[in-house]
Amino acid sequence: SAGPRSRALFERAKAVIPGGVNSPVRAYRAVGGTPLFLAKGEGAHFEDADGRRYLDFVCSWGPLILGHAHPEVLAAVAAAAGSGMTFGAPCAGEIDLAEAVVARYPGLEQVRFVSSGTEATMSAIRLARGATGRDLIVKFAGCYHGHADHLLVSAGSGLVTFGRPSSAGVPAPFAELTRVLPLDDEAALDALFAAEGSRIATVIVEPVPANNGLLLQRLEFLRHLRALTARAGALLIFDEVISGFRVARGGAAELYGITPDLATFGKILGGGMPVGAFGGRRELMRHLAPEGDVYQAGTLSGNPVAMAAGIATLGILERERAWEELEELGGYLEQALAPAFAAAPFPVQLVRQGSLFWMSLQAGAPPRRADAIASGAAALYKAIFHGLLARGIALAPSAYEVGFLSLAHRPEHLDQLAKALGEVFAELAGERG
Ligand SMILES: *Cc1c(COP(=O)(O)O)cnc(C)c1O
Repeated sequence: SAGPRSRALFERAKAVIPGGVNSPVRAYRAVGGTPLFLAKGEGAHFEDADGRRYLDFVCSWGPLILGHAHPEVLAAVAAAAGSGMTFGAPCAGEIDLAEAVVARYPGLEQVRFVSSGTEATMSAIRLARGATGRDLIVKFAGCYHGHADHLLVSAGSGLVTFGRPSSAGVPAPFAELTRVLPLDDEAALDALFAAEGSRIATVIVEPVPANNGLLLQRLEFLRHLRALTARAGALLIFDEVISGFRVARGGAAELYGITPDLATFGKILGGGMPVGAFGGRRELMRHLAPEGDVYQAGTLSGNPVAMAAGIATLGILERERAWEELEELGGYLEQALAPAFAAAPFPVQLVRQGSLFWMSLQAGAPPRRADAIASGAAALYKAIFHGLLARGIALAPSAYEVGFLSLAHRPEHLDQLAKALGEVFAELAGERG
């Protein structure tokens, strides 16, 4: 658990920051205890405020695909910052990063930069509504798209899939414009489109749902979604904030060979700086101001320092053939963990897509939809989390968050995780008698 310095910092933080954190999951509410305050990162490790070193499988929730403090990214950031932190005017770096994104992502012709994944999805949805002249949007239970009002919506009850707010402060009338469907269910999609297809502006989906466990989808389901939206004149948005530049060079669109109408990005794109983006065909993107009548803007959008971090990161991924390397590491992880998982006193299996991984703590086929995740996993995960933390290994502080591999992770780091997990599982077996 956290050392004295982290504990003291958390007390100070709680006085001036709600819950002591600037994003709720960081508060460790799902696993209990005091969050570590981080002081320094290097490669696959970080150091906390008490000077303790941890092997990091959170990687800032995805951006650190090169590991912490990659020297080339740091140099690019320092050089850009030396020429000024922000201009609020066009700069060449924006074009470089836009060209890099357009070159990588299937079907993308134009892209606009924002400062977070939330802004990217929020803006993409406004664009979809503006371009189609329709109001309804569809999302899937178990997918996370940031915290804009119309996306903080969960499934209502009854046959009509009216959404209801999943957060206080979201007006019910907003949520009612969002339909929420289960993943992995063609019939539910068909029924909704039969009833309301002509009113649906867009369907937004994480093609590799990685915010509520790792709910890998059947290719046929995603293909069906693509065909159905196209037929109904609704735009398909792939939210690739996690999967973009990670599961393949061209994200899930390349991985699955499915081209969405719009795509959203974040995390890796900023190389550790706050950057998001949304993009699509020119014919859609021209609806945005100043060309079109869909308003969208940002004082720090296209920030030169952030653009430099993104350009450096995408360039290094390319040069290092990152996707092959990460797939190999992921394969190694599977093999390394297999003995510990087989010996565990409870069902546990690894779900993996490239460098994304998740421990599914239940028997049977890995879940493909949110309501197929067994309740009860959370309590078990809590023990696993703290057992690993005590051994100097950081997983996400929630059973529903995925783990991330980076190019800084080496096979011996994965062996270290396997050994620690074996010990923790054995400990838990002892407790269970
Ligand atoms: C992280 C994430 C977001 C939100 O991005 P922020 O930068 O945290 O606002 C949106 N969609 C997906 C798929 C994400 O993983």
